[in-house]
Amino acid sequence: MAEQDGRPPIVELQSVCKWYGTHKVLSDISLQVERGRKIVVCGPSGSGKSTLIRCLNRLEAHQEGRILVDGIELHSKMRGIEQVRRKVGMVFQNFNLFPHMTVLENVIAAPVYAMGEDRASAGKRAEELLARVNIAEQAAKYPGQLSGGQQQRVAIARALCMRPEIMLFDEPTSALDPEMVAEVLDTMVSLARTGMTMICVTHEMGFARSVADEIVFMDKGEIVERAPPETFFTSPRNARTKQFLSQIL
Ligand code: ADP
Ligand code: MG
Repeated sequence: MAEQDGRPPIVELQSVCKWYGTHKVLSDISLQVERGRKIVVCGPSGSGKSTLIRCLNRLEAHQEGRILVDGIELHSKMRGIEQVRRKVGMVFQNFNLFPHMTVLENVIAAPVYAMGEDRASAGKRAEELLARVNIAEQAAKYPGQLSGGQQQRVAIARALCMRPEIMLFDEPTSALDPEMVAEVLDTMVSLARTGMTMICVTHEMGFARSVADEIVFMDKGEIVERAPPETFFTSPRNARTKQFLSQIL
């Protein structure tokens, strides 16, 4: 196993397969993500992108192959999945904020209620994070009072408040009105510059071009092609990749 600073890759998948009933949705997926890398995952609807990233913190279980997060293997008999989830921040398409909590409470909820951190220290970090995502002035509001772009930035701050080692994004801008996409992508670009390891499912190819170290293209549960952005966009090899790119570019 390749190591960085004596540590294992933050994420490693070895020949992972997953079925829903008899429907195979992940087929022989192998992927190794070194710390600090930015991976963009794209592909048609239903190709298994969400399932893939949900398997990384065991929101979904795989049936074959191995998944290791920071060297810890995820499997049905494992203990301490919470310890793994703590390392893995996740941002969803539909924000998934708690509607009855203020922005600040949303951001500190996991550290305070799940980890037992004291409110003062979590609150201080939350304020810094809200400032970082340019939303400090909204701390006392409820999610319903914010725009979609603002809610998604709160969701990013909330994930970061757990001090994750990797951030997973599942189409974070797909549910946004077009004028709000840029503010969320800008936040993600800034986060990328901090050195955060990121796996982003997105069809925002401008973002992919500027941020990704590698683009992974999935179709029908398989990784069909993977390449750095320069190669991926200019000389895709696979016919399915070419077709996909012709539809979205
Ligand atoms: P993508 O994110 O690329 O659109 P998904 O990972 O959501 O794809 O879905 C992959 C396949 O798995 C699709 O065929 C989808 O219908 C199916 N699927 C996803 N979630 C479930 C589920 N909970 N139960 C059964 N089938 C599912
Ligand atoms: Mg999806």
